[in-house]
Amino acid sequence: MFLKGKTAIVTGSTSGIGLAYAKAFAAEGAAVVLNGFGDADAIERERAALAKVSGAAALYDPADMTKPDEIAVLVARAVADTGGCDIVVSNAGIQHVAPIEDFPIDTFDAIIAINMVSAWHLMRAAVPHMKAKGWGRIITTASAHSLVASPNKSAYVMAKHGVAGLTKTAALETAVHGITVNCISPGYVWTPLVENQIPDTMKARGLTREQVVNDVLLAAQPTKAFVTPEQVAALALFLCREEAKSITGANLPVDGGWTAA
Ligand code: NAD
Repeated sequence: MFLKGKTAIVTGSTSGIGLAYAKAFAAEGAAVVLNGFGDADAIERERAALAKVSGAAALYDPADMTKPDEIAVLVARAVADTGGCDIVVSNAGIQHVAPIEDFPIDTFDAIIAINMVSAWHLMRAAVPHMKAKGWGRIITTASAHSLVASPNKSAYVMAKHGVAGLTKTAALETAVHGITVNCISPGYVWTPLVENQIPDTMKARGLTREQVVNDVLLAAQPTKAFVTPEQVAALALFLCREEAKSITGANLPVDGGWTAA
């Protein structure tokens, strides 16, 4: 249990990739701070299960990633209740699929706030605590869409490219403080975020469900298989190891070969 004594905050961890990160960190003994929306009883069950696995604290904080003051409270609470914020993962994200001229402005604003701006606020709050300890791991779930584009995802591609730039800058600023900052960039992972965009993509491109899965989603992935949340979490866990301390400012694809093409 190499993360005993450490605390991991994972935004958007009530579902999908974020929950897989939380489980991976807890399995190595970290105290975990869950965050995100969802059914209160289901979240409480996950929180209790994480505490049992880690033998450490497990908290849930409902901070809304569109609200900078709530992000600051999330970090302050982790530090006050568990003694630190050693590992911070910006992972909360939403998606919307529509041509640029039809894209609703409030949805565009929400994607930019949740998928990009929140990562900056989280780093701003966490970095001083990491510098004080001389150790930190900052990970952002970017996307293959931080490296390449797809049509009808203007807000998402813009936000993910922004996160990739933020990661490089933060890595340079923190490099002498024992802190690493990296993006993990998954291809298509089978989670509610992907499942929920199928109807919009069917509409935007005039395709059937099967065509969207095979000809749009998996078409980009040479392996022709979805990435799993556990595969993404395994890389995050490696980035927390001492052996990974020279990996910083990187954008690491877990995309079945998508961005090699
Ligand atoms: P998901 O829908 O399963 O999980 C998203 C999480 O974000 C949930 O916990 C949700 O409650 C939370 N969330 C949404 N809005 C929030 C807000 N305002 N404040 C706080 N939490 C909020 O999706 P996922 O596929 O697990 O996505 C996680 C991350 O991985 C996202 O950043 C996404 O862009 C990225 N990603 C996903 C894929 C994929 O194929 N699934 C690929 C590349 C990158």
